[in-house]
Amino acid sequence: MPNNRITRFQREQLERAARFADSDGWTLQLRVTEEQRRNCADVPVDVFFPNAEEDSGERLVRAERERIAEQCRGCPVADECLAGALLRGERYGGWGGVSQPDFQRLSRLFRKLRQRGRLTEIGGEAA
Ligand code: SF4
Repeated sequence: MPNNRITRFQREQLERAARFADSDGWTLQLRVTEEQRRNCADVPVDVFFPNAEEDSGERLVRAERERIAEQCRGCPVADECLAGALLRGERYGGWGGVSQPDFQRLSRLFRKLRQRGRLTEIGGEAA
């Protein structure tokens, strides 16, 4: 997969997740739920499962992106949240501050790179 098909945003998210590439997605989720300071500790879970999907109109996708970014901003376990969801192969939801439409695209990319053994290469020199 040529690098020019990966956006800067996606590369940044892959860098966040690549740190945990050797972890187990469920272990990361446990770490997230045990963190009492996480931003969503008292937020209904359906807040993270909106109607907007990756093929929604651009306006809806942008609004959802801003909404989830605001909800998750500064969360102390945001990277674990994102990486765990990618490793578990979640199909729906906003995770780690990445909205559902963006997450769905990122998740497909993550799977491809992982299958090809290129995750740490793309996600970081960082990893
Ligand atoms: S990043 Fe967002 S969804 Fe994940 S634990 Fe933090 S507040 Fe919750």
